[in-house]
Amino acid sequence: MATRNRYAFFEGDIVPIEEARISIMTSAVHYGTGVFEGIRAYWNDPEKQLYAFHLREHYERFLRNCKILWIDLPYDPEGLSEITLELLRREKFETDVYIRPVAYKSSLEVGVRLHDLDSECAIFAIPFGEYIPAPKGARLTVSSWRRIDDNSIPARGKINGAYVNSALAKTEAHRKGFDDALMLSGNGHVSEASAANLFILRGGALITAPETDDILAGITRAIIIEFARDLGIPVVERSIDRSELYIAEDAFIVGTGASVVPVVEVDHRAVGTGKPGEIAMKMRRLYLDTVQGKIPKYRAWCTPVYECRDPEGAG
Ligand code: PMP
Repeated sequence: MATRNRYAFFEGDIVPIEEARISIMTSAVHYGTGVFEGIRAYWNDPEKQLYAFHLREHYERFLRNCKILWIDLPYDPEGLSEITLELLRREKFETDVYIRPVAYKSSLEVGVRLHDLDSECAIFAIPFGEYIPAPKGARLTVSSWRRIDDNSIPARGKINGAYVNSALAKTEAHRKGFDDALMLSGNGHVSEASAANLFILRGGALITAPETDDILAGITRAIIIEFARDLGIPVVERSIDRSELYIAEDAFIVGTGASVVPVVEVDHRAVGTGKPGEIAMKMRRLYLDTVQGKIPKYRAWCTPVYECRDPEGAG
């Protein structure tokens, strides 16, 4: 099993990781002027296959977000997907991995702006386990940090510099002994966790904040909405009040890194019974089976990385 990454896609080629280096003068290092993605590939041991999950959707979002920062890349979603598959094959991973594409202002210049600067794109992948290791469910707190507003730094843009906001909230929560933070938007509604979207259950319906409440419109969020519809669970996209967190029947946070993590406590108040909720666990199991290509209905979302060893495995 490969335990470290040896290659990266950098300045147009797949190169040994040691060669994928940027200068301290790089514009994006100073101003956070880049956008990134987080993609996962999951190892299915019985099939001896690595499945990249929702590759195309991630690269579509990546290229859309590049537009916000005037980052013009000479790639389309298919091209970036192909490069990623090639990179994973070179690494020969036989474990779950996290793939990190980043597009950034690469000119070696001082001066804060987006125009008249070159852009580059890099991709690397690393073995990756649980992002929020909370086997008994996550304990969250409402952050004292507000979520950045769309008119300040668009949260939907997955912009590098914007993650200072997430980092402040995450570390504050961690230092207070919680697993993660929930941030309120400028208008006081619950936006999202530091790097995951939130669902709560009230009156048998799942509720999640709308895209317009300064969230990153997560790909996992969209998947959970689709699962819920397939399972006949009503979903409402609407603003969430802080106090609804304290009276929810069930709650969970979702994201590529986090997968689906039940929330068992918010600000020292138990969610439901204080144990991982039934719907949260149902969604978690369905998601983890889906990403490994185990659910025929959703198998098209999984791209096999290696030559197909399973006759039914063409995705
Ligand atoms: N919100 C934020 C702030 C994030 O960084 C992420 C992780 N990309 C998510 C939500 C979840 O998004 P996705 O499901 O697309 O990974």
